[in-house]
Amino acid sequence: MIDLQNINKTYNKGLATETVALNNITLNIAAGEFVVVVGSNGSGKSTLLNCIAGNSLPDSGNITIDNNEVTQLPEYKRSIYISRIFQNPALGTAPELSILENFRLASLRTKKKGLSIGTSKPFENIVKEKISFLKMGLENSISKPMGSLSGGQRQALTLVMGIMDDCKIMLLDEPTAALDPRSSILVMQKANDIIATHQLTALLVTHHLKDALQYGSRLLMMKEGVITKDYSGGEKQNLKLEELAMLFD
Ligand code: ADP
Ligand code: MG
Repeated sequence: MIDLQNINKTYNKGLATETVALNNITLNIAAGEFVVVVGSNGSGKSTLLNCIAGNSLPDSGNITIDNNEVTQLPEYKRSIYISRIFQNPALGTAPELSILENFRLASLRTKKKGLSIGTSKPFENIVKEKISFLKMGLENSISKPMGSLSGGQRQALTLVMGIMDDCKIMLLDEPTAALDPRSSILVMQKANDIIATHQLTALLVTHHLKDALQYGSRLLMMKEGVITKDYSGGEKQNLKLEELAMLFD
């Protein structure tokens, strides 16, 4: 589904601040795989996701998604495949607008524009139906301003916004880092449900090692722009928290 061949990315080339963010990364992710990415700050995790999403272009190497060459394709041209979830749920949403209006904006930004025109009832019904998947009762509050919701509620809604257009890939970059522990647990459960139900291919960057063990079918460890560990199947299932923590040295 996602294939990266010899991806290199260096920031500030030739300057004193030159940083190798990705060092010859080759990685193949099959359709439906849920890949958790861990590693210290600055190890290249976000750059990896950015190169897949296209808001950062690699200096060299090759990326294909669903067998389509996308290496130099700008982000907006890849958005048909990809939805992204970031650390701060406020980033992608307008606090003064209602939940419904936020969904309309999110739709306008991407593809199925026909659905989001005006205040059409069909669109509202689709939004309600999708939100009800969360089982948080938020489908009854779609007129409420986004800003009146908790961080966890907002992040759960951004997950739903991500699947409005039937994308195949979800990239989550520390989606729970700005949340309190309870909301963090809730959002991870909802993310996992959505990824499983929609059979998404997913990459999750997290610093929560318990989440890294609990979720996903594969676990990558990054260090200085290199993938140093790649666990899947039983190897991932049998991995212990202490073992994983040790890998950070
Ligand atoms: P992580 O997400 O694992 O913390 P990043 O991918 O954000 O790591 O960053 C990898 C390295 O690249 C870091 O040293 C970081 O400082 C550097 N870097 C990331 N983005 C930029 C940028 N836009 N300009 C310059 N350096 C950057
Ligand atoms: Mg990062």
